[in-house]
Amino acid sequence: MSPVAFKSLDDLLAEGVSGRGVLVRSDLNVPIDDDGNITDPGRIIASAPTLKALADAGAKVVVTAHLGRPHGGSDPALSLAPVAKALGQLFGADHVQLAGDVVGPDALVRAEGLSEGDILLLENIRFDPRETSKDDAERLALATQLVELVGGPDGSAGAFVSDGFGVVHRKQASVYDVAQLLPHYAGNLVAAEIRVLEQLTSSTEQPYAVVLGGSKVSDKLAVIENLATTADRLVIGGGMCFTFLAAQGVPVGSSLLENGMIDTCRRLLDTYGDVIALPVDIVVAERFAADAEPQTVPANRIPDTRMGLDIGPASVQQFTALLSNARTIFWNGPMGVFEFPAFAAGTKGVAEAIIAATGNGAFSVVGGGDSAAAVRQLGLAENGFSHISTGGGASLEYLEGKTLPGIEVLTG
Ligand code: ADP
Ligand code: MG
Repeated sequence: MSPVAFKSLDDLLAEGVSGRGVLVRSDLNVPIDDDGNITDPGRIIASAPTLKALADAGAKVVVTAHLGRPHGGSDPALSLAPVAKALGQLFGADHVQLAGDVVGPDALVRAEGLSEGDILLLENIRFDPRETSKDDAERLALATQLVELVGGPDGSAGAFVSDGFGVVHRKQASVYDVAQLLPHYAGNLVAAEIRVLEQLTSSTEQPYAVVLGGSKVSDKLAVIENLATTADRLVIGGGMCFTFLAAQGVPVGSSLLENGMIDTCRRLLDTYGDVIALPVDIVVAERFAADAEPQTVPANRIPDTRMGLDIGPASVQQFTALLSNARTIFWNGPMGVFEFPAFAAGTKGVAEAIIAATGNGAFSVVGGGDSAAAVRQLGLAENGFSHISTGGGASLEYLEGKTLPGIEVLTG
């Protein structure tokens, strides 16, 4: 793949942004607990440098972002209010405000009243169903309203900075359509992510190991085919592994299982059997709960009444051996339900193996929101990896060789 050419944030800053309205699409989709506390601010921290550069240069910054998956309307539980508060702590509460709507009257009034260096966060963009509409005209209508917020009276002053790497694989109004209406630039985060993924695909040193886990099984099974052809080793754990185990005819109890993909997994095992490594032992429990009693069993002896919530210690040992001499590693998806301490050892062990390989000179990339959160939550050193990506789905699609609409649109 040839390097992607687009204008950068530095190009925009060189053109001058003082007093200009700049629309930024950020990825601020952070996990929030029932009390409204942000449990992992990683994406906010990662988004801050681009916002800071623009605010420091005197832009009137309008930020659009989503939180969760609201179903076709406003949902107070998915308000960006906690995120606005966190941004206020970073940039000073006087300089950050949250609009009560997406592109409605409140957003308009606030956008018009912005001073240089101020940041206006619009309410959850997915409260507006046009954001994710498959109808081009509907998306364009929303994009046009977004652009009006930074257009100034003559509609010509604004610019768009795409910095939400986690959403660049989506053809959505705030990602794709706005870029067609405004001069567009890649933010620091998007530019850095693309550079790393280019390195991963264009100058891959071998052995190349891919570690896959997590719970979005069907999404990820779709990319395995491509990864299996390029990787020397494909290590599979997490909720992913049970469909493969089932494909081998092994009972998986009440573990996460994608019935419709069993045939696909069987075919993958037939074709890439020498590349794919599955766990040899599993930590099971009766229930999906933090206080459930953990029990380690061989991978082919999962009792009917139990579910697999982590890979076992023998699997960690085996995976560690497979990763020890890798020169390139891509990891997406936790090995178990790391949020429960009793089922976190598999993820921690494999992460430590990747850190060790990185220490020996391997180039390692972690992709995936939950994988990145696991690194921080388990107290592992973030700088133990070469790069921690903020976008799981986007990085997987890039590695699959797909065109990412939100990147492609920046090159035009
Ligand atoms: P990422 O965000 O890194 O791409 P996913 O979103 O696919 O990863 O999956 C992350 C989730 O997978 C975590 O919340 C974790 O608890 C869950 N998970 C991992 N292993 C299992 C398992 N064996 N059963 C159920 N859920 C699992
Ligand atoms: Mg996830």
